[in-house]
Amino acid sequence: MDAAHVEQDLVNILFTEKQIQERLDEMAQQIAADFEGRDLLLVGILRGAVMVMADLARALPRHVEMDWIAISSYGSGTKSSGVVRLLKDLDTDITGRHVLIVDEIVDTGLTLSWLVNSLGSRNAASVEIATLLRKPEALTMSVEPTYVGWDIPNEFVVGYGLDYREKYRNLRDIATLAPHVYT
Ligand code: 5GP
Ligand code: MG
Repeated sequence: MDAAHVEQDLVNILFTEKQIQERLDEMAQQIAADFEGRDLLLVGILRGAVMVMADLARALPRHVEMDWIAISSYGSGTKSSGVVRLLKDLDTDITGRHVLIVDEIVDTGLTLSWLVNSLGSRNAASVEIATLLRKPEALTMSVEPTYVGWDIPNEFVVGYGLDYREKYRNLRDIATLAPHVYT
């Protein structure tokens, strides 16, 4: 879905499909350099990180494994419920593995600090984070992403995997949602 298809619902396009691909390519180059000589397991967080995972993984000029975890921290609206729940665990034993968590956005960081603790207790060789977007509040969180696509203002964004009530995930770009949609 293009922004033009839902023009009335969007205020501002923050990042176009092309800009996203270019940034992911840069991040992939850096990740490939940093993890050279080490095996790498990408762990995507369902469902928001599906697009980032698909494009980041393909931009990597090397072998990687991919696994998925599902956790919920948000309700169905635009505010965090403050509760983290594990909905689907990894299928992979991560003992001794180098794990890179792939996420689309870090807001409060609640989800990620919970996940890093949880994976950390399973004796992974390393656990790091790559996120496409980061909001200001995340700067106060206890775990810091090693790879960040962009820092964005504290606004609710949709597209490229990011939803509002399960819609807009298939929007190609990342955009701010018009208040009339959620008020
Ligand atoms: P955190 O635990 O960092 O507060 O929340 C992370 C999760 O909240 C993200 O993975 C995402 O699912 C959701 N989230 C946070 N900010 C936004 C936003 O601006 N737009 C959308 N669609 N989801 C968001
Ligand atoms: Mg997420």
